[in-house]
Amino acid sequence: MSTASVNDRIQLIVNGQSDEETCSPSLAKGPWEFDTKVPAYGPGASMGDVIPTGSPVQGGLPEEYKVASNDELHARIRAAKDTLGDKLVILGHFYQRDEVVQHADYLGDSFQLARAAADRPEANYIVFCGVHFMAETADILSRPEQQVILPNLAAGCSMADMADIESVTACWKELTDLYGTGPDASGKVPVIPVTYMNSSAALKGFCGENGGIVCTSSNAATVLEWAFERAHRVLFFPDQHLGRNTAKAMGISVDDMPLWHGRRELGGNTADQLESAKVILWNGFCSVHKRFTVAQIEKARVDFPGVRVVVHPECPMDVVDAADESGSTDYIRKAVEGATTPTTFAIGTEINMVQRLAAQHPQHTIFCLDPVVCPCSTMYRIHPGYLAWVLERLVAGEVVNQISVPADVAEPARVALERMLAAKPV
Ligand code: SF4
Repeated sequence: MSTASVNDRIQLIVNGQSDEETCSPSLAKGPWEFDTKVPAYGPGASMGDVIPTGSPVQGGLPEEYKVASNDELHARIRAAKDTLGDKLVILGHFYQRDEVVQHADYLGDSFQLARAAADRPEANYIVFCGVHFMAETADILSRPEQQVILPNLAAGCSMADMADIESVTACWKELTDLYGTGPDASGKVPVIPVTYMNSSAALKGFCGENGGIVCTSSNAATVLEWAFERAHRVLFFPDQHLGRNTAKAMGISVDDMPLWHGRRELGGNTADQLESAKVILWNGFCSVHKRFTVAQIEKARVDFPGVRVVVHPECPMDVVDAADESGSTDYIRKAVEGATTPTTFAIGTEINMVQRLAAQHPQHTIFCLDPVVCPCSTMYRIHPGYLAWVLERLVAGEVVNQISVPADVAEPARVALERMLAAKPV
C-alpha cells in the first residue's frame, strides 16, 4: 500500500497517475465546492445517504483560503497557533485527513478528544477537527468559558443523522405504551434507552432524562451490562451494527434483537416480537463501515495467507464474524502497536486511519480491506483552508462556527455521559 496521504492518493487517481480506484473523483476538489445552501453529505462514503432537510450548511469560505497552496495554509495555521498559544487546543479525530491532523494537539476518538479538551482548562478555544456530534460532546464536557469551534459546519455524520429526537421520542412512546414504565417485582424497568456516542446532543439528553446512558465502541458491552442490571430490554440507537455485534458477543440471540424502522407502526414489528425482545435496534448504520464485506476478507486471506483481519464493530455482523478480531479505533491502534513481529494487517475502518497506521508502522504490512479509496464524506469537509480560516478569525478576535449546546439539552446529556463513566464491567 502506498504511504502517500489519502488526499494525495485521490489526486493521483484523478490525474491518471495511479491505477487505484476512488468512489468519487469529486474528492479531489476542495470541500467548499459542496458547501451550498442545500444540505448535502458530498463525495465519499455517505454520498448515497439522504441528508435530513435543515442540516447545517457552511457559509462561504473566503476566496484566499480556497486558492492558497497547502504550504501557505500550513504556514498560516502554524503562525495562528503560535499567536494563540495556550488559549487554543486543536483536536483531530483518527479519521481526519493527515493534512489537518498534522496541526492537532491531540489525536484520538471522539470521547478521548472531548476529555482531552476538558483537561486543558487554559484553552479558551477548542477547535474540533471532527464532526458535529463530537464538537457537541466537547461542548457538553468542557468548561463554560471554553468555546468549541467546528471548522466546517457541514461536517455532520450520516449515522448520527439517522436517529433524530422526534423519531426516537415517537418510538419511545410506542414502547412505553406497550410495556408500561415502572419497575416490576424484580425491580427492573421494561426498557432503557442507550445511545451510541455518535448521536446528537438531543439524543444524549433524551437518554439522560429517561434513565438511559451513552456508550462508545470501546465500552458498549459494559454499558449494556449496566442497562440489563436495571431493565429487561434496551432500545439501542443509532447504530444497529454496534448494538447487534455487542449484544451477540454477550450471548444474546439475534432473534431477540428486532430492528426498529421509524415511521412504521411498532417500528415494523409485532407486539409479540417486542415483548420477547432483549435489544431493539434502531435502523441506523455507518456508510463507511457498511462498505466492508466478507468477500473482501476472503480475498485478503487468499492474497495474504496468515493475514490478521481486524474490523470495527460498526461493520455488519457477517463481517465481524468473518474477521479475526473486532474493536474500536483505539483497539485497532493498540492491536497494531502491540504486534511485536512483522505482521500483515487487513483493517476494516476509515481509510485515513488505516493509511496513517501503515505509514507509522513500516515494519508491518497494513492495508484497508476496502480496495476503493473512499473516506468518510463528513470528515472530508474539514480542510486546511477551513482550519486556517477559523484560526485567523480567532487571532482577529472573532469566534466563527461555534458549536453551543443549550443548557436544557446539555444538562441531561451530561447525566447520561456521567452514567457511562460510572458504569464498570461486571
Ligand atoms: S465514519 Fe461513519 S460514524 Fe464516523 S463520522 Fe463518518 S459517517 Fe459518522
